[in-house]
Amino acid sequence: MKFVFLPHQAPSVPVIDTEERFPVHRVYCVGRNYGDHVREMGGDPKAEPPVFFSKPATSIVVDGEDVNYPQATTDLHHEVELVVALKAGGRAIAIEDASACIYGYAVGIDLTRRDLQDLAKKGGRPWDVAKGFDQSAPISAIRPVDQGSHLSSGNISLQVNGELRQDGNLSEMIWAVPEIISSLSDFYQLKSGDLIFTGTPAGVSAINVGDHLRAAIDGVGEVELNMLAAAR
Ligand code: MN
Repeated sequence: MKFVFLPHQAPSVPVIDTEERFPVHRVYCVGRNYGDHVREMGGDPKAEPPVFFSKPATSIVVDGEDVNYPQATTDLHHEVELVVALKAGGRAIAIEDASACIYGYAVGIDLTRRDLQDLAKKGGRPWDVAKGFDQSAPISAIRPVDQGSHLSSGNISLQVNGELRQDGNLSEMIWAVPEIISSLSDFYQLKSGDLIFTGTPAGVSAINVGDHLRAAIDGVGEVELNMLAAAR
């Protein structure tokens, strides 16, 4: 095959304690998946089915790299999330078959231009510019899990400059991981290499240049980053 210019390198995530990397295919996200966060955003947790959106695979930030404050916002928010990494996929996957698709888990931060998201919600417009910008998906190394198992509890937290801002438990998720995989596969053909950000607990707040973020999930890992000045 002859390309008109060199293709960009495919994004990948390190696998914890190995030299191997997980090649990323797509990045899906779930909105509104913890009751307290839904309530803080003014919604009723049980009123609607899962909300799905996506980010470009190129938006992931790996290997502990820092992030530049993005352009076009003055209200950047953090959302700590459990990330599911798939080793298999399909369409219309049954809930009881979903766990077999899981390769492992990581800790992710769904960075959000909240001012642009508020405008999109008010105008009934897509969330792409609020969610899918460059460097919008920092992620830890992936921790593989045993075949057929899935995570259903464990502390999930995020600190800014050492101050606890988000502090929840995976058991508070409205839709559990197998339900998310099953539901998402009714809309998309899931594939090995897909990542799914599974929603955030309460406590989202603004981040400023110079802030240090540390996100952690019990039994999964942690990711840290510094918020650098805007790229020029
Ligand atoms: Mn989110």
